Amino acid sequence: MSRLSGKVAVITGGSSGIGLASAKTFVEEDAARVYITGRRKDELEEAAASLGPRVIAVQGDVTNLADLDRLFDRVKSEAGHVDVVFANAGYASPAPLGALTDEHIDGLFDTNVKGLIWTVQKALPLMTAGGSIILSSSIVASKGFASWSIYSASKAAVRSFARTWSSDLKGQNIRVNAISPGVIETPAYDHMSMTKDEVGGFFAFASTITPLSRTGRDEEIAKVVAFLGSDESSFMTGSEVFVDGGLAQV
Ligand code: NAD
Repeated sequence: MSRLSGKVAVITGGSSGIGLASAKTFVEEDAARVYITGRRKDELEEAAASLGPRVIAVQGDVTNLADLDRLFDRVKSEAGHVDVVFANAGYASPAPLGALTDEHIDGLFDTNVKGLIWTVQKALPLMTAGGSIILSSSIVASKGFASWSIYSASKAAVRSFARTWSSDLKGQNIRVNAISPGVIETPAYDHMSMTKDEVGGFFAFASTITPLSRTGRDEEIAKVVAFLGSDESSFMTGSEVFVDGGLAQV
């Protein structure tokens, strides 16, 4: 398919998991240029190389404003504008109430909330009518799983932005939607201070509480991101799309 024909996209956190799968789908859907960002240069460049010349790696951290300026300066000088922004960079980390620390809270909010705010605000001057902004929220934004309060709150802020920002931008014909994945098997779970067995046990548990009886795949989320980035979804703004095998309804 070529639903993204000619479009210029920026995907933060594009070196792994959902971001990488989305970059791959964007290329398959004929996007003209897909800028991917990530903190680790080698991993990022390897990811871009695996997807071909239309994927451009720009190393950077979304918590660093100078990195974001460098990213959008490069997009401006090479492409002149952005059609699709997928603000995907983020991470999850558990901690129960009673054991919360400043470091835990600041880390999650700096990346998942403030990093996403600055990504979108700095992209805006390059966006034109018909543009699409896709925010990475999560099913946990509207759930109450123990030990996930700060991560869940960070994602609740993100789903809120999809609503308020869609109103802020309505006069400009720029759309803002959020995706809320359920449990998706990605490398994120390798970085969560859980053993391999604990991660396997968590995926097995997640399958039992999901109506589809399985965890999700990053390429499934990518299909939804491509739809939200394309003109096929031009009627959608301020939406939260659950991609979770029905878990949100349980
Ligand atoms: P992942 O760890 O595979 O990928 C995350 C990407 O974000 C990586 O490229 C990482 O380098 C990047 N990143 C993290 N912090 C960054 C920073 N400060 N600056 C720049 N890049 C940064 O994880 P994933 O599962 O693909 O997660 C992608 C997004 O989806 C995250 O926002 C996550 O919270 C959300 N999400 C994931 C799941 C899931 O079950 N995997 C469910 C719901 C939501």
